[in-house]
Amino acid sequence: MKVNGTCHCGQVAFNATVDPNKVIICHCSDCQVTSGSAFRTIVMSEPDAVEFTKGSPKSYIKTADSGNKRELTFCENCASPFYSVTVGDGPKIYGIRVGVLEQRGELEPRKQIWCQSAVNWAGKVDSYPKVDMQ
Ligand SMILES: [Zn+2]
Ligand SMILES: [Zn+2]
Repeated sequence: MKVNGTCHCGQVAFNATVDPNKVIICHCSDCQVTSGSAFRTIVMSEPDAVEFTKGSPKSYIKTADSGNKRELTFCENCASPFYSVTVGDGPKIYGIRVGVLEQRGELEPRKQIWCQSAVNWAGKVDSYPKVDMQ
Protein backbone atom coordinates (compact mmCIF):
# COMPACT_ATOMS: atom_id res chain seq x y z
CA MET A 1 0.00 0.00 0.00
CA LYS A 2 1.33 3.41 -0.99
CA VAL A 3 1.34 5.99 1.78
CA ASN A 4 2.70 9.48 2.31
CA GLY A 5 3.69 11.45 5.35
CA THR A 6 4.49 15.03 6.26
CA CYS A 7 5.79 16.45 9.53
CA HIS A 8 3.74 18.99 11.43
CA CYS A 9 5.68 22.04 10.17
CA GLY A 10 5.79 20.80 6.57
CA GLN A 11 9.57 20.96 6.20
CA VAL A 12 9.96 17.20 5.59
CA ALA A 13 7.79 14.85 3.50
CA PHE A 14 8.14 11.26 2.29
CA ASN A 15 6.46 8.50 0.34
CA ALA A 16 6.55 4.84 1.32
CA THR A 17 5.13 1.43 0.50
CA VAL A 18 3.90 -0.41 3.59
CA ASP A 19 2.27 -3.74 4.46
CA PRO A 20 -1.14 -2.82 5.97
CA ASN A 21 -1.19 -6.27 7.64
CA LYS A 22 1.88 -5.30 9.66
CA VAL A 23 0.56 -2.56 11.91
CA ILE A 24 1.52 -2.95 15.56
CA ILE A 25 1.14 -1.12 18.82
CA CYS A 26 4.39 -1.08 20.79
CA HIS A 27 4.24 -0.62 24.56
CA CYS A 28 8.00 -0.70 25.13
CA SER A 29 9.47 1.97 27.39
CA ASP A 30 11.70 3.31 24.57
CA CYS A 31 8.59 3.98 22.46
CA GLN A 32 6.82 5.56 25.43
CA VAL A 33 9.69 8.00 26.01
CA THR A 34 10.61 8.78 22.40
CA SER A 35 6.98 9.26 21.33
CA GLY A 36 5.99 11.14 24.48
CA SER A 37 2.89 8.98 24.62
CA ALA A 38 1.63 5.83 26.36
CA PHE A 39 2.38 3.65 23.32
CA ARG A 40 3.39 3.96 19.69
CA THR A 41 1.64 2.72 16.56
CA ILE A 42 3.96 1.49 13.80
CA VAL A 43 3.53 0.09 10.28
CA MET A 44 6.34 -1.89 8.65
CA SER A 45 7.51 -0.81 5.19
CA GLU A 46 8.36 -3.05 2.28
CA PRO A 47 12.18 -3.40 1.92
CA ASP A 48 13.90 -0.09 1.11
CA ALA A 49 10.51 1.47 0.35
CA VAL A 50 10.88 4.92 1.91
CA GLU A 51 11.72 7.95 -0.18
CA PHE A 52 11.96 11.52 1.06
CA THR A 53 10.36 14.01 -1.33
CA LYS A 54 10.98 17.18 0.68
CA GLY A 55 13.73 18.01 3.16
CA SER A 56 15.56 15.34 5.10
CA PRO A 57 15.17 14.01 8.62
CA LYS A 58 17.48 14.30 11.58
CA SER A 59 18.64 11.04 13.20
CA TYR A 60 19.14 9.73 16.69
CA ILE A 61 20.86 6.37 17.26
CA LYS A 62 19.19 4.45 20.05
CA THR A 63 20.99 1.56 21.74
CA ALA A 64 18.65 -1.05 23.24
CA ASP A 65 19.34 -3.05 26.40
CA SER A 66 20.31 -5.90 24.05
CA GLY A 67 22.99 -3.73 22.44
CA ASN A 68 21.08 -3.49 19.14
CA LYS A 69 21.22 -0.08 17.56
CA ARG A 70 18.34 1.56 15.70
CA GLU A 71 18.20 4.85 13.89
CA LEU A 72 15.21 6.99 14.87
CA THR A 73 14.40 9.90 12.57
CA PHE A 74 12.43 13.07 13.13
CA CYS A 75 12.00 16.62 11.85
CA GLU A 76 14.68 18.81 13.38
CA ASN A 77 12.30 21.76 13.36
CA CYS A 78 9.04 20.37 14.75
CA ALA A 79 10.15 16.96 16.19
CA SER A 80 7.50 14.90 14.35
CA PRO A 81 8.83 11.30 14.24
CA PHE A 82 9.12 9.40 10.92
CA TYR A 83 10.50 5.89 11.42
CA SER A 84 13.06 3.66 13.07
CA VAL A 85 15.36 1.34 11.11
CA THR A 86 18.30 -0.99 11.76
CA VAL A 87 21.76 0.52 11.47
CA GLY A 88 24.17 -0.96 8.91
CA ASP A 89 24.06 -2.51 5.45
CA GLY A 90 21.37 -4.70 3.90
CA PRO A 91 17.75 -4.18 2.88
CA LYS A 92 15.96 -1.81 5.22
CA ILE A 93 12.55 -2.42 6.75
CA TYR A 94 11.34 0.87 8.17
CA GLY A 95 9.09 0.98 11.23
CA ILE A 96 7.03 3.99 10.18
CA ARG A 97 5.14 6.01 12.79
CA VAL A 98 1.49 5.73 11.75
CA GLY A 99 0.49 9.13 13.16
CA VAL A 100 2.65 11.00 10.64
CA LEU A 101 0.95 9.30 7.66
CA GLU A 102 -2.00 10.81 5.82
CA GLN A 103 -3.50 7.28 5.72
CA ARG A 104 -3.29 6.80 9.51
CA GLY A 105 -7.00 6.06 9.83
CA GLU A 106 -6.78 3.14 7.38
CA LEU A 107 -3.92 1.41 9.16
CA GLU A 108 -5.49 -0.65 11.92
CA PRO A 109 -3.23 -2.44 14.42
CA ARG A 110 -3.12 -6.25 14.26
CA LYS A 111 -0.97 -6.88 17.29
CA GLN A 112 0.38 -5.32 20.51
CA ILE A 113 3.96 -5.99 21.61
CA TRP A 114 5.98 -5.34 24.77
CA CYS A 115 2.77 -5.61 26.79
CA GLN A 116 4.81 -6.25 29.93
CA SER A 117 5.61 -2.51 30.06
CA ALA A 118 2.18 -1.23 28.95
CA VAL A 119 0.64 1.46 31.14
CA ASN A 120 -2.00 -0.21 33.28
CA TRP A 121 -4.85 1.79 31.66
CA ALA A 122 -3.89 0.95 28.05
CA GLY A 123 -6.84 -1.38 27.57
CA LYS A 124 -9.40 1.01 29.03
CA VAL A 125 -9.15 4.01 26.66
CA ASP A 126 -12.48 3.30 24.98
CA SER A 127 -14.26 3.41 28.35
CA TYR A 128 -13.34 7.03 29.12
CA PRO A 129 -15.80 9.91 28.49
CA LYS A 130 -15.57 11.22 24.91
CA VAL A 131 -15.72 14.82 23.67
CA ASP A 132 -15.64 15.62 19.93
CA MET A 133 -13.25 18.53 20.40
CA GLN A 134 -11.41 19.92 23.40
ZN1 LIG B 1 8.70 19.59 10.75
ZN1 LIG C 1 8.70 0.08 21.09
